Amino acid sequence: MPAHEHSAHSMTHALPSYLNPDDVGPWGTYLQQVDRVTPYLGSLARWVETLKRPKRILIVDVPIEMDDGSIAHFEGYRVQHNLSRGPGKGGVRFHQDVTLSEVMALSAWMSIKNAAVNVPYGGAKGGIRVDPRKLSKGELERLTRRYTSEIGLLIGPSKDIPAPDVNTNAQTMAWMMDTYSMNTGSTATGVVTGKPVDLGGSLGRVEATGRGVFTVGVEAAKLIGLPIEGARIAVQGFGNVGGTAGKLFADAGAKVVAVQDHTGSISNVNGLDVAALLAHVRDQGGVGGFAGAQAIEAEDFWSVDCDILIPAALEGQINKDNAQRIKAKMVIEGANGPTTPEADDILHDKGVLVLPDVIANAGGVTVSYFEWVQDFSSFFWSEEEINARLVRIMQEAFGAVWQVAQENKVSLRTATFIVACKRILHAREMRGLYP
Ligand code: NAD
Repeated sequence: MPAHEHSAHSMTHALPSYLNPDDVGPWGTYLQQVDRVTPYLGSLARWVETLKRPKRILIVDVPIEMDDGSIAHFEGYRVQHNLSRGPGKGGVRFHQDVTLSEVMALSAWMSIKNAAVNVPYGGAKGGIRVDPRKLSKGELERLTRRYTSEIGLLIGPSKDIPAPDVNTNAQTMAWMMDTYSMNTGSTATGVVTGKPVDLGGSLGRVEATGRGVFTVGVEAAKLIGLPIEGARIAVQGFGNVGGTAGKLFADAGAKVVAVQDHTGSISNVNGLDVAALLAHVRDQGGVGGFAGAQAIEAEDFWSVDCDILIPAALEGQINKDNAQRIKAKMVIEGANGPTTPEADDILHDKGVLVLPDVIANAGGVTVSYFEWVQDFSSFFWSEEEINARLVRIMQEAFGAVWQVAQENKVSLRTATFIVACKRILHAREMRGLYP
């Protein structure tokens, strides 16, 4: 082969310098997941490299004046993984352990999730490496506003739409919306979702992710012949996602027998009083010390006798050290990335059905999509209408994934990736390359 052809070929396949082929972090996990679906993509496999490289990565310095007069610098990111199906969409995380690898993986999982439920978005994610509990409210506001200005060249209602994630909330979104609107000179409610309802937020958004977890759980339980009435549920993380899912399962006749959060692990074989537990968490900041249960060791939470386990806290919680001990028949991933690839294989071999994050927790972004649509039309829907549309989308998306899993004899995670990657790459192929 002539030398110039060889060098052109190696240039095609050379990785950008910032991508480490041996990444063992979340981005490495995502790459393994893409490799698993590639054999199922048919002729679209020719485009698969697109999914292994984020479209755009922005790293920003976020300097703020602290209350004591000193200047502090924080590292911020916004990654747009793929925009083939529409504008970027994905949350902003404030956490001391945020890394570029994590934000890249979370942005890629947003591409997959948005395509899996067929909302017209690409995938994006942002974050700041900061422990927000160490900042005052004023410092947090300055941090959020400066970060928003720094990523202002990427975001916009039809470019990239951030939302809350770990340690960010409706107040953070109100500051982001205001900063963007001040910078552009016109009120742009549609630049973020997860806003307060009085500022163009949507009814039902707060509970949407937990409602989606519950909806796919009920669908899957029907398919494997597991009655919800009397089913024993264990939930890790009793915040927005875990608390809502636990409440909806209890309302449907299931028994929440164990809960773990950052304040402790509790169990009650007869079923916890979920309404009382939610009130306790509201008042005390966590489940620890709840009177209607006995405290258990954190490690024992994973071997609790239960039918359904819902990890709804952090990444990597179900791993090779505890997966073997899990007794549940079904795991519903409320959190993003709660199961490591090794644990995924262990659960599969044990016959535990795993409903993966990329479909199970997509209820949040689905109602974020409704919020964005309502903002564009300035016409707001009733909560009943929002919940009914959410349930319909989740049921249809889950049904399609289930069918692909049966046809190809693959896990629901691989099936979700097959559905989503085909949609993304089909869009890529139809759009073609510019220029
Ligand atoms: P949250 O802050 O409301 O709740 C987090 C929960 O995790 C709390 O109960 C906390 O006590 C618990 N927790 C924290 N550290 C823990 C530890 N070391 N051990 C056990 N429990 C711990 O957050 P959330 O919005 O419910 O998000 C939870 C997960 O769901 C995250 O992975 C997030 O990315 C994912 N998620 C959230 C949404 C959403 O709309 N909120 C959407 C999709 C995915």
